[in-house]
Amino acid sequence: MDEVTQIFGENVFNETVMKARLPKETFKQLMKTIEGGEKLDASVATVVANAMKDWAVEKGATHYTHWFQPLTGITAEKHDSFISPLDGGKVIMEFSGKELVQGEPDASSFPSGGIRATFEASGYPAWDPTSYAFIKDGTLCIPTAFCSYTGEALDKKTPLLRSMQAISKQAVRVLKLFEGNEAVTSVKTTVGPEQEYFLVDKSVYDKREDLIYTGRTLFGAKAPKGQELEDHYFGMIKPRVQEFMKDLNKELWKLGILAKTEHNEVAPAQHELAPIFSTTNIACDHNQLTMEMMRKIASKHGMVCLLHEKPFAGVNGSGKHNNWSISTNTGKNLLDPGATPDQNAQFLLFLCAIIKAVDEYQDLLRISVASAGNDHRRGANEAPPAIVSVYLGDELTDALFAIDHDSFTKDSKKSLLSLGVSSIPSFIKDNTDRNRTSPFAYTGNKFEFRMPGSNKGVSDANTVLNTAVAESLKTFADVLEKSDNIDKTIHSIVKYTINEHHRILFSGNGYNDAWIEEANKRGLCNYPTTTDALKHLLDEKNVRLFDYHRIFSYEELKARQEIDYENYVKSLDIEIKTMVHMSLRQIMPAISKYIGKLVKDINNIASLDTSISTSYQKNTLTKLSANLSRIDEYTTLLKDKYEETCKISDMAKQAFYIKDNLLSLMAKLRGFVDECEIMMPKETWPMPTYEELLFSEH
Ligand code: ADP
Ligand code: MG
Repeated sequence: MDEVTQIFGENVFNETVMKARLPKETFKQLMKTIEGGEKLDASVATVVANAMKDWAVEKGATHYTHWFQPLTGITAEKHDSFISPLDGGKVIMEFSGKELVQGEPDASSFPSGGIRATFEASGYPAWDPTSYAFIKDGTLCIPTAFCSYTGEALDKKTPLLRSMQAISKQAVRVLKLFEGNEAVTSVKTTVGPEQEYFLVDKSVYDKREDLIYTGRTLFGAKAPKGQELEDHYFGMIKPRVQEFMKDLNKELWKLGILAKTEHNEVAPAQHELAPIFSTTNIACDHNQLTMEMMRKIASKHGMVCLLHEKPFAGVNGSGKHNNWSISTNTGKNLLDPGATPDQNAQFLLFLCAIIKAVDEYQDLLRISVASAGNDHRRGANEAPPAIVSVYLGDELTDALFAIDHDSFTKDSKKSLLSLGVSSIPSFIKDNTDRNRTSPFAYTGNKFEFRMPGSNKGVSDANTVLNTAVAESLKTFADVLEKSDNIDKTIHSIVKYTINEHHRILFSGNGYNDAWIEEANKRGLCNYPTTTDALKHLLDEKNVRLFDYHRIFSYEELKARQEIDYENYVKSLDIEIKTMVHMSLRQIMPAISKYIGKLVKDINNIASLDTSISTSYQKNTLTKLSANLSRIDEYTTLLKDKYEETCKISDMAKQAFYIKDNLLSLMAKLRGFVDECEIMMPKETWPMPTYEELLFSEH
């Protein structure tokens, strides 16, 4: 398709555009900033800003915005037009270097977790030149980091960029010790996030207050058909969805997003989109844009895109598989097992760095994906559990244990591994033996972190991953730099790592109850809910990690914890209020009305002939009446307890109170309502059912 190559990146101020539009010297300077992280000169910024503006105006843009990711997790933008007044009542379109590099301080109320109050400063957006500017809806969007006046990060991008620097610094130290890496000056992590989502018909969606207000169904009996047959997975894509995907791809391509794979997912109405991977901060920006575009394009097609982690009970929720790897500026993927013994030793060292990182900071990885929505996928009543473990595949696991036990032999087929002497079998590269239940699986040349939820950006998860691995690499580099026998030291590092951290390696079925018990025995963390996890963010080792690598100061970390508690509380507040509202205004009146009808029917039949059985009507009446009383009782209870919650001023305490006291009431209330739903005729139920929702996208 020629069209694709033509439209790809047409709305992006990318390298090609820059090269064509910038003076040679300016372009060179800018590339130094983009590739080498050098500080951008003010005069260069002015030239870039002007070229950017001209390009954007030619493409019909009238406004610009510093596009950033505040701690709410969704992107924010405030639009300013390019106009600048001229004498005589005219305007010109202007955009200065200063406006590009640093936006206006922001006076509105983005959450800062107390940072802004502490430092009495507002937030400043600062351009991230490594992520290209783009045009969206007639506005030039400038990817931006958002900091306080004193430099505290008030967003998700700043720590991510810091973590990319940290891992680069430590990885280069290690790589310098190997021959053949002379040209390596930096490494970058790469990410390819696979995004799952549901599509439902807009007219059906509009009749569900829970979907409108909370993004998930708070009530709803299971449909007779769910995902049992697994006939949806990779099944034929329905024409209407196909049209949506076609449109979506086109819009994403225009934005330079490498949308690549699309298919139906396991649950009915569930789909997935995977891009080709890119540098982590760009992948994170692109994932945010992808989610935004999914919503927008769905509405053009009369559908609504649900990005909630668990829109429907009883069928799969939606996640985001975060494929992650590290590569050098010379283009070598460090998680690709090499062809030579030296490369293999290097590969094993990085592998061990990751194993150690995931084991030592499993709590942080869990925290990085914690949200009220993701709690429904993780830990709650449904598999998979909230336990982090690493899957390496049999060959690699065997090889590592062989080193640990000094049992490797050159002629053994399984473990052809002797560090620095022979090589890892190359078939590891095409490792297809995937364990789909593993939360952190090695898949050939990358790791796939499968715990992130569909709704949240992937900046947090990758900030943790980068930083934790940077810490392992630092430890290794400290030892290796002092060693006078690198081969031997590598060998002992690998051995030591496996010895210390083998508890995190797990190849079995992660969805099995037995694993929870086993993980417990191994001393692995199991934090089923957001509140359980968040509590550990400020554990001493975590504070130390982030502080050492200059990712978060204690203040910044504490602010994040506060905001995450707040986000949790707010999500549940809305859910509780919506539940009470729906129960009082829709559900109970509908049940009561139907009970009235049953009474009438029974009386009518009795007046006709008392010998005619009315047992069905009477049984239904009895059950519905009993349930209605319970619904009434639990609605009141929920409302009362919610009012109690509001009296608690401490966010963390409020979050715990909700988790301990209100979640179970919500579940009970839902149970009684769902029982009524299946006893009542469809037309008497006050909202569309699961059947209508899940099979509405035709
Ligand atoms: P799957 O079988 O899980 O679909 P794919 O090979 O199709 O595996 O890759 C899934 C995702 O992993 C894609 O988004 C892809 O771009 C990404 N990916 C592949 N290689 C890397 C890498 N080196 N770093 C980060 N992501 C990668
Ligand atoms: Mg995958």
